Amino acid sequence: MLIARTKKELAAALAEIRSHHRSIGLVPTMGALHSGHASLVAAAREENDAVVASIFVNPLQFEALGDCDDYRNYPRQLDADLSLMEAEGVDVVFAPEVEEMYGPTGVPLLWVRTGAMGERLEGASRPGHFDGVATVVAKLFNLVRPDRAYFGQKDAQQVAVIRRLVADLDFPLDIRAVPIIRAADGLAESSRNQRLSDTDRTAALALPRVLSTLAERAAGNQPLDIEGARAQLRNADGVRLDHLELVDAATLEPLAVSGALDRPALVVAAIHVGAVRLIDNGELIPAGDRDLR
Ligand code: AMP
Repeated sequence: MLIARTKKELAAALAEIRSHHRSIGLVPTMGALHSGHASLVAAAREENDAVVASIFVNPLQFEALGDCDDYRNYPRQLDADLSLMEAEGVDVVFAPEVEEMYGPTGVPLLWVRTGAMGERLEGASRPGHFDGVATVVAKLFNLVRPDRAYFGQKDAQQVAVIRRLVADLDFPLDIRAVPIIRAADGLAESSRNQRLSDTDRTAALALPRVLSTLAERAAGNQPLDIEGARAQLRNADGVRLDHLELVDAATLEPLAVSGALDRPALVVAAIHVGAVRLIDNGELIPAGDRDLR
């Protein structure tokens, strides 16, 4: 596995890779790797001759451009991450410092703007987050020029924004969304889970429980009680609800549904547990639609 800490080293590694591999799959990450990231790498390996993964905690997508506790406390464990990537069969890891990515000021002058799409849901609670994501992902696409790039469905709005980025800015590559990987207790794997105490983790399980109840009700063509689901999270011990919304699975536009669902949808949610903010989502598929799949 080749490790590149600068854009120049990345270019050299890519030249080496391209001399004997045809297609490249890109897996962007912020490190602190877990089985969710490993499943993105596995999907990329299956469809490409070579896999490039990036590890970069991108300050632009955090509050105050990274001048916040969430950025400072974000787990960083490069050596362990490199071992995992090597074991998963990654060919090149790009792990730059902030100044390497954005120059001496650490902030670009020109950004990708995600507009209304980046201002809803996660974006409403994290202003500027998706502009930071789209800006770094556009840079990674230009630096690596992959054939395909892999993103987790765990970050459903991110997938929708990136698909739109590729369409609107004509990036010549395919975006693949990979299903959510969960721990045995049901919690979606996340680098932020490392910061949960045992009590926090137990409290956090209210989120996947509420999502799976909604999925079961949708599958049984039973009426969905979205407000009831919100109330369950508001009343759950140790949990502070940020949002829970029913949205169109492709556009993430809000859906107003009274009664049973008549087409597939997504329920997206965020909660705070202790000092940690967790997100999750679930596909809601009415029985008739599931049979057609
Ligand atoms: P992050 O390092 O948190 O920025 O995540 C890097 C990529 O891994 C993103 O595309 C995430 O959506 C994806 N990812 C994170 N957690 C999971 C998970 N539990 N299952 C599937 N993909 C995930």
